[in-house]
Amino acid sequence: MPSTTTETVKPVAHEVVLIEGDGIGPEIAAAVRLIFEAAAAPVRWTPAIAGGRAFAAGVATGVPAETVDAIERARLVLKAPLETPVGHGGKSANVTLRKLFEMYANIRPVKELAGITTPFSGRGIDMVIVRENVEDLYAGIEHMQTPDTAQALKLITRRGSAKIARAAYELARREGRSRVTAVHKANILKLTEGLFKRTVEAVGAGYPDITTDHMIVDACAHKLVVAPEQIDVAVMTNMNGDILSDLAAGLVGGLGLAASANIGDHAAMFEAVHGSAPDIAGRGLANPTAFLQAGLMLLRHLGEARAAARIEAALALTLSEGRVLTGDLARGKVEAASTMAFAEAVAANL
Ligand code: NAD
Repeated sequence: MPSTTTETVKPVAHEVVLIEGDGIGPEIAAAVRLIFEAAAAPVRWTPAIAGGRAFAAGVATGVPAETVDAIERARLVLKAPLETPVGHGGKSANVTLRKLFEMYANIRPVKELAGITTPFSGRGIDMVIVRENVEDLYAGIEHMQTPDTAQALKLITRRGSAKIARAAYELARREGRSRVTAVHKANILKLTEGLFKRTVEAVGAGYPDITTDHMIVDACAHKLVVAPEQIDVAVMTNMNGDILSDLAAGLVGGLGLAASANIGDHAAMFEAVHGSAPDIAGRGLANPTAFLQAGLMLLRHLGEARAAARIEAALALTLSEGRVLTGDLARGKVEAASTMAFAEAVAANL
């Protein structure tokens, strides 16, 4: 006879390295932990340090060996903002982390948020910008040819382009999206941008379930303003992606609400786009929304879409109710709530 006992099957918790970071980092990290815990999100945190605290402890790179080991083990990182302290040789712990783990894909979702009103509200903007993160003009090959002429090398490889293209198509599949647009300047830069465009199209041929099209980058900038809801997944080279991803964030409420993922073959790191906000640190004023959005990207990356959707719905409800908002969003309409009060409101709306 089959047993009638019903056992609650606890989901396996994924190990994630949590870097609380600098400035407002510990405050927004505490807020996200509270919400994840309330939602019983299947994540087990391994705390690690990087940035200001590491520099202060004399670690020249800003990333201690223990942190590197922890990331090598867990391969997943939720990272609060790290300050780039002046007077430490200009090294950025953020750049060190991205380079150490060859995070070649920068993923920036751009989606309307309930309760955030912008001139573009109500149009159904929901796109993802996939930016190549290590090649192009940012490979750092730059020199003076003569005292009056500077030159930078635009480096594009078939391998790098294929990797970012695959990241875009895999994301489209995972998120049930139907179109990948290769954004490029191949009409002028026929070799570099041309190689990128042709490589994306070649990779796209292996994804018959997803439509591939292409758009010249200046036309894409125009489209982002006149019909942003028509863009689904847009994949682009490093500098084009740098510029257009910030433009796109502006369509849905600005950099303060945006999150991004840095993906490599061996590790993925999720973060808010904003910095450590030293001007408001330690006062409970920070808005944890962008960092929470980074946490939602992490959950979706882990295949925990249901947990992500549940938290996202609670966040949307809290923002659209508009009763408990941090100062940046309250703007005098309601009394500003603290970081933790906002997190508790989201948790209560789960
Ligand atoms: P910033 O994003 O920290 O701050 C810009 C403005 O936005 C400030 O007025 C700040 O108070 C406000 N702000 C930012 N996040 C907010 C939040 N969550 N809630 C409410 N207000 C918020 O930019 P910055 O001042 O140029 O940089 C400060 C430090 O952060 C620097 O050391 C910089 O290098 C670093 N930084 C780190 C990252 C990262 O870790 N990925 C990104 C950008 C900047």
